[in-house]
Amino acid sequence: MLYALDCEFNGFGGELISLALSGEAGELYLCRPNAELDGLELHPWVEEHVLAILEVHDARPRVLPLTEFGRAIQTFLEDDPEPCVIADWPEDLTHLMQCLIISPGQMVRIPDLSLKLMQVSAWPTDIHDAVQHNALWDARALSRALALSRGEV
Ligand SMILES: [Mg+2]
Repeated sequence: MLYALDCEFNGFGGELISLALSGEAGELYLCRPNAELDGLELHPWVEEHVLAILEVHDARPRVLPLTEFGRAIQTFLEDDPEPCVIADWPEDLTHLMQCLIISPGQMVRIPDLSLKLMQVSAWPTDIHDAVQHNALWDARALSRALALSRGEV
């Protein structure tokens, strides 16, 4: 099944802050705890436009240390024999891949995971009340844009 991916991170090349997957099979929205975010020297733009809206209406993150994101993603995808994750920006895929590496030489097991980087714009979206730069809403907007581009809606 297909999942739209979005990540928020601390500016260009910066550390991961939150990660969301949205697809027919459900949604996953993960965010690092304040104790970890406080140590990141957050970019002012990120503080204003990302941190302030990590938790908004219909988007309440599961707060987990970054080291536990991989297991949470594995559990989320475990019933899907061929998950396909789609992103509109390469760093989103980089962060997802990094989460799956849990220690040197060890990764979480996700069978036949495929990734797609697609030329599609999530924004502007016609989803009412969507919140740009909230990872879950961005993933929902991307999912919607993908469906529209396929003529499914
Ligand atoms: Mg985003």
